[in-house]
Amino acid sequence: MKPTIQAYQYVFIRKEVEQLLNTYSSVNDQKTVKTVQAFAEERISQLFPENPFEITAFLKEILDIRLTKAKAEKALLDLKVFIEPFQQPEKAQLEKVFKKVKKLPLPEWGALDLYEHTYVGWNDPASQRKYLTFYQDGKLTGISGRLSPNVSKGICSICQKTSSVALFLATTKASSDGTYTKKGNYICQDSSSCNHQLSDYQQFQDFIQLVRFQDKK
Ligand SMILES: [Zn+2]
Repeated sequence: MKPTIQAYQYVFIRKEVEQLLNTYSSVNDQKTVKTVQAFAEERISQLFPENPFEITAFLKEILDIRLTKAKAEKALLDLKVFIEPFQQPEKAQLEKVFKKVKKLPLPEWGALDLYEHTYVGWNDPASQRKYLTFYQDGKLTGISGRLSPNVSKGICSICQKTSSVALFLATTKASSDGTYTKKGNYICQDSSSCNHQLSDYQQFQDFIQLVRFQDKK
């Protein structure tokens, strides 16, 4: 079975389903319900121009006004097998990505649902650092930096959602001598939560570009 869904698309779909459930339980006006359904269908369909059968079948289920929370959860779970999971890299590959780091702490792979990760991020509280790894054009790459231990409520620069965020000061290739970017970005302290909220791949790309751009300034 060829995976057709990316993790961030799954987050997007889940969000649409939540909205539909909300509408079904709170809106009586059939015209309004139909409009909400039409928009949801359009937004989901736009993500999958090739119209794979699993999406068509899924849409049929969630566009039924008799949809319950339990049915929706089951449908979402069934859809999960079509997600392309984050490929867990070898330890050596990660060490190559973060080659300036002497003793690289590793993510707790076993605790991560790789079907719901667009990138993988983990913290090393001892050194107050955060590591982010992801694939760019099929190649494993990464960003690391200092993560403030102070957590507050704010908008995350990656998922763009209100979240428990902390200031992240990246070090990238150009400043791998240990200097940090001058301007930090607030991002989700917990990267798994961030992934569960990241529904737009472009937002993640923009963040990476921003960090690399800030680094050059
Ligand atoms: Zn986030």
